[in-house]
Amino acid sequence: MAVVVLGNYSNEDLPRGAAMEKIRLGISACLLGENVRYDGGHKLDRFLRDTLGQYVDYVPVCPEVECGLGIPRESMHLEGNPQAPRLITTRTGKDLTDLMVTWSRNRVQELEKEELCGFVFKSNSPSSGMERVKVFDESRMPRKSGSGIFAGIFMDHFPLLPVEDEGRLHDARLRENFIERIFVFRRWREMLGTGRKVGLLVDFHTRHKLLIMSHSPNHYRAMGKLVAEAKGAPFDEVLSRYRNQLMEALKLKTTVKKNANVLHHLMGYFKRQLSSDEKKEVLEIIDNYTRGYLPLIVPITLINHYVRKYDQPYLKQQFYLNPHPIELQLRNHV
Ligand code: SF4
Repeated sequence: MAVVVLGNYSNEDLPRGAAMEKIRLGISACLLGENVRYDGGHKLDRFLRDTLGQYVDYVPVCPEVECGLGIPRESMHLEGNPQAPRLITTRTGKDLTDLMVTWSRNRVQELEKEELCGFVFKSNSPSSGMERVKVFDESRMPRKSGSGIFAGIFMDHFPLLPVEDEGRLHDARLRENFIERIFVFRRWREMLGTGRKVGLLVDFHTRHKLLIMSHSPNHYRAMGKLVAEAKGAPFDEVLSRYRNQLMEALKLKTTVKKNANVLHHLMGYFKRQLSSDEKKEVLEIIDNYTRGYLPLIVPITLINHYVRKYDQPYLKQQFYLNPHPIELQLRNHV
């Protein structure tokens, strides 16, 4: 079994669920360098294949090849109503919509067995594009307003799964957000695999509290209430509401202000242990982070140092301090 270990902790120190099987992630096959494009080429993304690829098991999907179109093949685009566009070949005008829709509906059923924690789509593709794909109207004018046929059916079928396209993942904040979500989704699946018990949900929530707070203090409060009232309520309903709120919260971007709020909250746990000089130093570093002089990893590293030094049990288990492998350098941007 391939195991991924998060961050710099030893296994003993890790929040439960941080050492885990590799995450299963769907991906448009051409992004891994497979020569499946209409012209026989690929669209290799080195970050996805070489860097993120160390932590995930990819499930590659090429809708156009898998539905029976060959390599090379005629290029195609979307036409008509952006809500229900047709997939048309650009030279001969052949309508491939029904073929692609039928194939996609079957493929998403098959993908249910893969236990995916997310999907990375190829941007701008009439089959695989997640959003803002060109749709041509009657006067042959393109509007960036559609989803590729397979991507649309996939997102309707798996509305809660984290999805992104490779173009958007070049933005450091969107990349951090997406990767954080797939790791959380993996831990959620792991928790459900262990059992459906209130105690496990309480434990999951406790370890993710500060992470949720860094995205949405409102969700943090609402989810805390939901968990506190879980005993005695229909548990499947609680789980479903919790999962929906969790994924909704994590989709909201963290901001410098929200992170600074969490960092100040964290400081409260060291009231007695830190000397006034040490406190001053941490506060200065948080301030420099809020001013944009330092990346988030700097205050986080210092706080992690004190968590270990003073063996702070509550903070030790917080995924906020260790949400994904440090080697991905997701918190190193300012
Ligand atoms: S964009 Fe999608 S359909 Fe096109 S080559 Fe890549 S995986 Fe295949």
